[in-house]
Amino acid sequence: MKGFKITFLGTCACDFSPKLNTEFKDKFDNDARRASSILINEKYLVDCGPHALDSMRILNKGIDEIEDIIITHLHDDHFDKDNIAKIALVKDTPLRLWVREDAVLESIPNVEIKRMRLLEKTQIGELCVMGMSANHDKSAYPQHLLIEMEDKKIFYGCDGGWLLNDTYNSLWHAEIDLAVLDCTVGDYEGDYRLAEHNSIPMLRLMIASLKTIGAINEKTKIYLSHIAPSLHAPHEKTVELADAFGASVAYDGLKIEV
Ligand SMILES: [Zn+2]
Ligand SMILES: [Zn+2]
Repeated sequence: MKGFKITFLGTCACDFSPKLNTEFKDKFDNDARRASSILINEKYLVDCGPHALDSMRILNKGIDEIEDIIITHLHDDHFDKDNIAKIALVKDTPLRLWVREDAVLESIPNVEIKRMRLLEKTQIGELCVMGMSANHDKSAYPQHLLIEMEDKKIFYGCDGGWLLNDTYNSLWHAEIDLAVLDCTVGDYEGDYRLAEHNSIPMLRLMIASLKTIGAINEKTKIYLSHIAPSLHAPHEKTVELADAFGASVAYDGLKIEV
């Protein structure tokens, strides 16, 4: 049975370290993260922000292998038109760019804009992908993603605070194999971002409830991503905090198979 091969190209919220242009220009650092993005099976990119090409270069991956880009929303840290254009430029056939059905965006040369309707499954190569509404800035057309291949399932929920009712309801008994969850805010209470991002206290509650409804189970790999280093303890401390509620902390360059 073929599984997913996931590479985290970036795991940051948008508080990028200036060291990404100097000390960490050609390498990854767990506390100087790049913009959130994952590469699936070497050819499907989820989000393409300002650092996706840097990360591909550091990992020695060819951008010509990318066939589809699935965009969670149009904020700059997830959608970088210039980088998408650069990928499209090296391709003989049009690059497919998947966005929420109602997203408003300009055309990009050699890019075919494809639209996904929320809560409807769309076949994207070997992946079956469903966008789900996300509690995030409406003007960026946000969506979480449920990505299936054969009997494996990934839930990718960056960016968004908590889960909206229709998304939550469609996750009952989902038995997700890999959940990648927004963890912009660290382990403290009172942050103002409650209705757009998660904090560690929120994730403690969410993960327990997701278990109650069978969305996740003891076999689910849970990774926290979209981490704002300026709102968190250093990576190693966050790893300890997350471990206590059954989650792992993603970092740039991390490769996992599910
Ligand atoms: Zn973001
Ligand atoms: Zn955002």
